[in-house]
Amino acid sequence: MHDYTPVPVNGPSERLRRLIAQTGPISVARYMAEANAHYYASRDPLGAAGDFTTAPEISQMFGELIGLCLADLWSRAGRPPCAYVELGPGRGTLASDALRAMRAAGLAPEVHFVETSPVLRNAQAERVPQAHWHEDLSTLPEGPALLAVANEFFDALPARQLIRGARGWHERLVGHDGARFAPGAGPAVPDTAIPAHLRTAPEGTILEASPASLGVVRDLARRIAAQGGAALVVDYGHDRSSAGDTLQAVKAHGFADPWVEPGEADLTVHVDFEALGAAAAESGLQVLGPTGQGAFLTRLGIDARRAALARTAPERADALDQACNRLVAPEQMGRLFRVLGLAAPSWPAPEGFQ
Ligand code: SAH
Repeated sequence: MHDYTPVPVNGPSERLRRLIAQTGPISVARYMAEANAHYYASRDPLGAAGDFTTAPEISQMFGELIGLCLADLWSRAGRPPCAYVELGPGRGTLASDALRAMRAAGLAPEVHFVETSPVLRNAQAERVPQAHWHEDLSTLPEGPALLAVANEFFDALPARQLIRGARGWHERLVGHDGARFAPGAGPAVPDTAIPAHLRTAPEGTILEASPASLGVVRDLARRIAAQGGAALVVDYGHDRSSAGDTLQAVKAHGFADPWVEPGEADLTVHVDFEALGAAAAESGLQVLGPTGQGAFLTRLGIDARRAALARTAPERADALDQACNRLVAPEQMGRLFRVLGLAAPSWPAPEGFQ
């Protein structure tokens, strides 16, 4: 079902063109930030009729197993007062499935959503009316332990790119060639900003970094260290920091040109899980994984959950098999999608990582 009303405002294309004409090329991070702010503020991009489909929209089993994982952890931590926190909850599907599973396990946390899109806040309010909404993490409650979840959130946060030239590294900047936006090498960046093992990479090599993502993880980690709790971060990306241009635009379930019509397609980069884990470790958090989404869901019991659902609704058995396969199979989402666990030093570790 597609229940959104598109907001009739122009994308940032014209504004960015004028800005570049007046003040010169802009960073890739700025380009991505402006594009995605408009993209998410003006539509619900999820589902068959939208641009892409996410794990919680494939099957209720995804959110239920995340909920069970958090409820089990909470129980082993001595059942303290808790808040469920979700970053970029989309339509609220994951949260509503997770909260139902938590309730069945005796956990009814207060609910806090970090979400900037008014269109998606409306969709979330339909499924999780009791939620409290936040623009960023600074206004999250300071008392309770935090059980945080982020699915396909960090890939949408702005990343900068650096490119290796003939003699050294440069910031990659976005200009406009009259027909389309065009990335090129900008000012030199000192070698000290580049991880040692990548400094002498071949000319043309691209490095990405997302200061926005690291800022969010640092804020979240500080809160979890102080208040107790844990976080599960699910996304596509690499376990170890590495070189490569992973900026991509997705529209109508296919790839689009990221340098045309910013704000009309979803711009993402692969998540650098090594960098996220290191940012959380600065506050002393335990870092689990990353592990594959398939292995994670299998360890949490997706096969038993699928069998139980199929017993109560035999006519859905085939659909459940297919959904399970999409989430778990290595050639589907099972390996590309990684799950990173973070936990307060004083807390037990979440299940699913070994
Ligand atoms: N987690 C959902 C949606 C993923 S899409 C799912 O799995 O289906 C990305 C989500 O992050 C959307 O809800 C989008 O509005 C939100 N988002 C993107 N950039 C954001 C930002 N800077 N701050 C808060 N939310 C953001």
